[in-house]
Amino acid sequence: MSGIFGAYSVKNKTVLEEIYLGLYALQHRGQESAGIAWARGGHAASARGFGLLHNAIDQHKLSLEEANCAIGHVRYVPLESQQLHNVLPVCANYARGPIAIAHDGLITNVGELKSQLEARGAIFQSATNSEAILHMVAQKSHMEPVDAIVDALKRLEGSYAIAVLLEDALVAARDPYGFKPLVLGERDGTYYAASESCALDIVGAKLLRDVEPGEIVIIDRRGMKSLRVRHERPSRCMHCSFEYVYTARPDSIIDGRSVYEARKEMGRRLALKAPCANADLVAGMPDSGTIAAIGYAQAAGAPFEMAVVRNRYVGRTFIQPTQKVRELGVKIKLNPIAELFRDRRAVIVDDSIVRGTTAERIVTMIRSCGAGEVHLRIASPPVLHPCRYGIDTRKEETLAAVRMTLTELCRKVGADSLDYLTEEDLVAAIGLPEDRLCTACFSGKYLEKY
Ligand code: 5GP
Ligand code: SF4
Ligand code: MG
Repeated sequence: MSGIFGAYSVKNKTVLEEIYLGLYALQHRGQESAGIAWARGGHAASARGFGLLHNAIDQHKLSLEEANCAIGHVRYVPLESQQLHNVLPVCANYARGPIAIAHDGLITNVGELKSQLEARGAIFQSATNSEAILHMVAQKSHMEPVDAIVDALKRLEGSYAIAVLLEDALVAARDPYGFKPLVLGERDGTYYAASESCALDIVGAKLLRDVEPGEIVIIDRRGMKSLRVRHERPSRCMHCSFEYVYTARPDSIIDGRSVYEARKEMGRRLALKAPCANADLVAGMPDSGTIAAIGYAQAAGAPFEMAVVRNRYVGRTFIQPTQKVRELGVKIKLNPIAELFRDRRAVIVDDSIVRGTTAERIVTMIRSCGAGEVHLRIASPPVLHPCRYGIDTRKEETLAAVRMTLTELCRKVGADSLDYLTEEDLVAAIGLPEDRLCTACFSGKYLEKY
């Protein structure tokens, strides 16, 4: 996953500072690299770097630039090589002027497309999906840029939310299944496209709507126009249910559904499905399990406590896991309040178990506080399958729920009991029809074609 943000001011105001702010609000979607691209004097310009936004981009230098149209990107997956040309957006100048592309998702037929492009002379500088799209557009230089983009998007398979910067236009598109979120906003003659609505809030823009699956939105001086990647709509959508479970920020609204409300409902349903009699307290694993824990506590009639405290200043990229750091374990990031747990029966709610490392550490920590009982509740179904659509860091053989039965996993993490949400309850909690959601990493229900 990653985060994208684009802006176009019809009133010719500079948008670069807003792009920076928008990426700031999307930082949870990617901490490995960040980049912003715009057009300067008919050429593509960019500011890009590694790590968190404030490390990657010099805000002061950016403030010396002006552009009424720009796009930005934050990247989640560690780069194979720490080379700047792999940092999105990819930028180039081709026969039709400057172009830059930022993409969230995974193009499943990129290998095939790259071979075709290379056979026609394309030379790749990066390992990014976006560069392939860029070459596809550049090879159609006889076409209007927007038409060439539409043509390229038609040939992509897999998942994408994409923002393309042209000389005087911003193009935003979402794949025909709508895997990845993408919303549109507006404020005072500036239009925005963002991975999540929390990035619109930070610039004071109004959420207009989601980009529809298969829709291509073109924003230029004449305003906003909409095209479709394919004429026929797929019979179903595949909005990523993991966005509601973990990925998205709780203050975002995705495909019309509040992430906060969905998480709380997951917790409420979990309490009904997997109750814990006479619990003294319910605590969430911060931050990802907190909201579900509130829902659980309310439905269970047990007190919710912020009993595990998180150090907010520890970034994901902060620590290289040396042996010493491993021994200190997760306490650098999370610390339980011992007094709340001593001799108590505690319910701990987390959003998901992937490898099971976090769960094991937290249960061990809480036990060492002298807790009477620790009951672990997970506000999503067991993750049993890898994601083929963009959360590509999970390998099947590393998934705890694949390697162990529920009983084995419960013993491994050291809990008195362990239970999950069902797939039915997950779908119901999100509140979108089942045929609009992807649940493949839980259910194995992938699309037939990929
Ligand atoms: P585990 O230790 O089981 O691998 O990680 C589970 C924890 O990581 C959960 O608390 C959840 O919030 C978080 N998590 C779930 N999916 C992902 C993911 O794709 N990437 C990262 N970084 N964390 C995840
Ligand atoms: Fe999202 Fe899971 Fe589907 Fe991947 S497989 S798109 S993580 S729901
Ligand atoms: Mg977590």
